Amino acid sequence: MRPDAPDYPTRAATAPDLLGLETLLVECRACPRLVAWREAAAAAPRAAFRGQTYWARPVPGFGDPGARIVIVGLAPAADGANRTGRMFTGDRSGDFLFAALHRVDLASQETATSADDGMVLTGVRMVAPVRCAPPANKPTAQERQRCGPWLARELELLGSRFAVILALGAIGWDAALRTLGEQGWPVPRPRPRFAHAAEVTVDRPDGGSVTLLGCFHPSPHNTFTGRLTPQMLDDVLGRAKHLAGLR
Ligand code: SF4
Repeated sequence: MRPDAPDYPTRAATAPDLLGLETLLVECRACPRLVAWREAAAAAPRAAFRGQTYWARPVPGFGDPGARIVIVGLAPAADGANRTGRMFTGDRSGDFLFAALHRVDLASQETATSADDGMVLTGVRMVAPVRCAPPANKPTAQERQRCGPWLARELELLGSRFAVILALGAIGWDAALRTLGEQGWPVPRPRPRFAHAAEVTVDRPDGGSVTLLGCFHPSPHNTFTGRLTPQMLDDVLGRAKHLAGLR
């Protein structure tokens, strides 16, 4: 199947492991609008990044393959993860998030600048429901739907170990519930709505449960206005750690 075929993401289901998933993912060109946008950003970088070679491809999950906490964001930023090739790395949202993860001892460093900066996440993995940078950070419903198999397979491959899904914003929240529902998890109906610090317990089909935890997205729009403060994020991360049994 060609990487630009609309159903190319269904190949995610054939990935035997996380590395195999990444190998398939980075070839994906199924969304013409997003492929054009990610490559346009690379062709005309902002002044601060002129001279850098952009990743300009789908961005794989990052972090601990045995994660107890899965952070579900939104999508790469055109000059952030789309530039560096690593989730939340190289933009202001990531600066805010990694600093918080470091404060609560889930990240080895407080700053993330490039894919080879030595950052290590312990007990945490970052994923996104849309893997390519969208214009204005707004993927369409069709693009969200089309990209779904990559998230679905990543959650499957993370297996029974994760205990918490931390959704950063309503799109991540809805994507998590939709993905679990499609995989046969007994997701509550009607689907619970996103709110900061909201919690929903979802039973696993094979026993045990996972807590879905909501948090405002650490975008500049939220952090510059004080809608999400460092303390608020620390509190949610602390709650996630507690639920996940991490010290
Ligand atoms: S957003 Fe997802 S489905 Fe669309 S091109 Fe990127 S990786 Fe493929």
